[in-house]
Amino acid sequence: MHNAANVNTVCENADCRSTLFAEYDLPTGLNREQFLAGRPASMWRYHEFLPVADPSNVVSLGEGFTPLLTLAGLSIEALNNQVFWKDESGNPTGSFKARGIGMAVSKAKELGIAHIVTPTAGNAGGALAAYCARAGIRASVYMPQLTPKVFKDECRLYGADLVEVDGNIADCGKLANDHALQNGWFQVSTLKEPYRLEGKKTMGYEIAEQFNWQLPDVIFYPTGGGTGLIGIWKAFKELEQLGWIGKERPRMVAVQSISCDGIVTAFHNGDLTSEFKDAGFTIANGLRVPKPYADKQILKALYESNGNAIAIDDAEMNAAVKHIANTEGMLIAPEGAALWVAFKKLSASGWVKPGERVLLLNTGSGYKYLENIV
Ligand SMILES: *Cc1c(COP(=O)(O)O)cnc(C)c1O
Repeated sequence: MHNAANVNTVCENADCRSTLFAEYDLPTGLNREQFLAGRPASMWRYHEFLPVADPSNVVSLGEGFTPLLTLAGLSIEALNNQVFWKDESGNPTGSFKARGIGMAVSKAKELGIAHIVTPTAGNAGGALAAYCARAGIRASVYMPQLTPKVFKDECRLYGADLVEVDGNIADCGKLANDHALQNGWFQVSTLKEPYRLEGKKTMGYEIAEQFNWQLPDVIFYPTGGGTGLIGIWKAFKELEQLGWIGKERPRMVAVQSISCDGIVTAFHNGDLTSEFKDAGFTIANGLRVPKPYADKQILKALYESNGNAIAIDDAEMNAAVKHIANTEGMLIAPEGAALWVAFKKLSASGWVKPGERVLLLNTGSGYKYLENIV
C-alpha cells in the first residue's frame, strides 16, 4: 500500500505499472449546501477531498472556481442545444494547468521536496515555474524548441531552469527523466505522480456545483495527457460516494489534434491502449502528446461514459479561435476552440441530440498563442 505521508510516483507493482490514484475515506450524510457555504472561490473550497493535510502548505495563486458562461453570438449556431463554456483562461499563468501543478507543488512542499522537474508542451512549465517560485522550490522545465516564445519567457521570468529540446514532449520526457534520476529531482510528468490529477479533478466538483448538481449531458475535453478528463471522471465517482450526485453521468468526448490523434484511432477501433502518433507541429501545443501515459484510463472513461473521440486540424482551430473571439468576446486557446468545432461536427452527425446540455472546457488563454494565430 502506498501512503500519502511518503513521496509517491507511480504504482511499481509488476501487475500495475501505471498511475497511482489517491483514495479518501469519504464521509456520507454531509449536506452539500451547508458544507460549501462560505468557502473560498478557489479549488481549495473542496480541501477535505484533496491531498494536502496541513493548510499552511497550500501554495495558492487563486486557482480554480472559474466561471461557467453561456453562449453569446454562438448561441444561434448551437441550434437546439444549450452550450456552456467553463472558462479556465483566468487561472494563474493563463491555463488550467494551475490546478494540477498548484496541487502537486503544495503536496511537494508538504513532503519537503526541494527541486521539481517536468517535461511540458508549454502551459505546465509556466505553471510549475510560477508555483515553485511562490513555494521556494527549484524548478527545471524541459520544453520543445518549437513552442511559442511566450511559454519560454514566462518560465525564465519565474526563475525556472529552462531546457529547450529539439524534439517533441516525449523527447523532453526522456531527458527530464535522465536528469531527474541523476540528480535526485522530483518529477511531476503527467500522471506519473498522483496529485496533478487531484488538482484537475476539482473541475469535476465545480461542474457539479455550478450546474446545481444536475450534470450536463455531454462534456467536451481537449485531450493531451488526459489528466483533466480522468480527473473529472474521478470527481463524479467521489461525488456519488458522498451522495451529492446520483448515478447519472455526462458522455465524455476526447478532442485531439489531427497531429496526435492516437486516442481517437484507438477509441474507434475499440482498443484498450493507444499507439504512438506524432505528425509534427500543431498550434494547439497542449495537444501534442504522441502517446499519453494514462491512455488506458482515458479510453476507459470514454467507454464507461458512452463517450466519443474526434480529431480537429489546425486550420479549423485557427478559424474557430477568430470566430469565437468575434462572437463571444473570448480569446481562447486553440485547444479550447477545437471543442467548438468538435461540437458542431457531432451535433451535425446527430451524436449530440437536440435538447442536450453541452459543456465545453476552455482550458487556456489565447493570449499565449498569438504568434501562431493567423
Ligand atoms: C495541457 C493542456 C491541455 C491538455 O490537458 P491534459 O489534461 O493533459 O489532457 C489542453 N489544453 C491546454 C491549454 C493545455 O495547456
